Amino acid sequence: RGRIGLAILALLGVVAAVMMKQIVGRARAAFNSGRSRSLEFRIQQLKALERMVQEKEKEILAALYADLHKDGPNAYSQEILGVLTELALVIGELPSWAAPQHVKKDLLTMRDEIFINPEPLGVVLVIGAWNYPFILVMQPLIGAIAAGNAVVVKPSEVSENTAQLVAELLPQYLDQELYPVVTGGVPETTELLTQRFDHILYTGNSAVGKIVMAAAAKHLTPVTLELGGKSPCYIDKDCDLAVACRRITWGKYMNCGQTCIAPDYILCDPSIQGKVVENIKATLQEFYGEDIKSSPDYERIINKRHFKRVLGLLEGQKIAHGGEADEASCFIAPTILTDVSPESKVMEEEIFGPVLPIVTVKSVEEAIEFINRREKPLALYVFSNNKQVIRRVIAETSSGGMTGNDVIMHSVVPTLPFGGVGHSGMGAYHGKYTFKTFSHHRACLIKDLKMEAVNKLRYPPVSQKKVDL
Ligand code: NAD
Repeated sequence: RGRIGLAILALLGVVAAVMMKQIVGRARAAFNSGRSRSLEFRIQQLKALERMVQEKEKEILAALYADLHKDGPNAYSQEILGVLTELALVIGELPSWAAPQHVKKDLLTMRDEIFINPEPLGVVLVIGAWNYPFILVMQPLIGAIAAGNAVVVKPSEVSENTAQLVAELLPQYLDQELYPVVTGGVPETTELLTQRFDHILYTGNSAVGKIVMAAAAKHLTPVTLELGGKSPCYIDKDCDLAVACRRITWGKYMNCGQTCIAPDYILCDPSIQGKVVENIKATLQEFYGEDIKSSPDYERIINKRHFKRVLGLLEGQKIAHGGEADEASCFIAPTILTDVSPESKVMEEEIFGPVLPIVTVKSVEEAIEFINRREKPLALYVFSNNKQVIRRVIAETSSGGMTGNDVIMHSVVPTLPFGGVGHSGMGAYHGKYTFKTFSHHRACLIKDLKMEAVNKLRYPPVSQKKVDL
């Protein structure tokens, strides 16, 4: 029986390998046909994608609800609006982004043409994560199409309803050979990663990030890794706490804390810890009412595995608020932990759930030291009435991005790059940065065949006489 099982597994592996080879091979042949390169074609595909999002809005919202309990208006603002805004930006700006960029000349190159020509990389792979399952594959896809590539899209199997929908919808609106969707889990992705790509953009945790990078290295494929980490949030004593805590509560508990740039933990002076808790509690009441379970604005943990993981982080902690949970519906109430030890488990791994630990520090210096002793985070937040404090934290720490006196918001500014640094990732995207990520910036110099006398200086035989001339 065991041997039959193994044989079946091996056979399935062979079938998956053949399938992946075929899918990527077809995408490469389509790319080699040259049809994805013209500006007209790219804009036409982007407009088709825009039509898809508009026409299938209801289906997309239903899939997001099934996966994460994301309700209509929340799901729309978190996942659909961003995609439509990105599409409008890219469709409008693409002609100027894709045009050759002329650069400064000097005496030697005065008569030449010198420019940077953005060109597509070829066949690229986009691997998405489950927490924002639609936008995390769509936003890279938009930039990769805009840059003229063929794109293999691999949505996360964890958010299976959205993954299935993306697989159904894209072929109805886009060129089917250039932009295939691969669904499935670890075996499928592992097989896919053996294929040769010209770039891989992966969103997800750092452990799998290393697997992706190792697979890419076999083909010298460049990667963009959009990873996670523990994003700190420092609250200065000199700060309007009611406003700060309202903004923090919004960013922490949105999507049930399952946001890569959610403030992971708070650092503040012991003297304001109690007020921080009171303000967050008041905001939770304002946002979600008495019965949070029935609030349409509060999502659920994606699955039982993550539910158990997040609850496990509460063990041994002082729960100042929340802590209630219901396994059947993967509900965990917004939770605040106080006087948390920096050595505890909840301070070791990214929380990725609605649990907010407060660690007390005595000064901004101590906060900076605390942050710098850990891996570079994806985001960093500072709240203070004094902008000097915010600038100081920027100058003395490092993170993928940061917002002062708010949370999350730097990630929705279309002119800012979005990405990590160190363990929170490499490379960046959003807006023009996605186009840049998926383009090769080719250095081009065109001379004419006249004025050969000038060139003689650099030809052999080199002699002092020539230099003196
Ligand atoms: P996930 O489980 O959906 O995995 C991400 C992708 O990796 C999936 O498509 C999955 O199929 C693939 N994968 C999983 N295991 C694999 C393996 N062994 N080999 C090959 N592929 C594999 O998502 P996740 O990792 O749980 O996502 C959460 C993490 O992602 C958090 O750390 C979060 O901070 C981070 N994240 C980062 C961003 C960002 O933009 N930087 C955005 C969202 C999430």
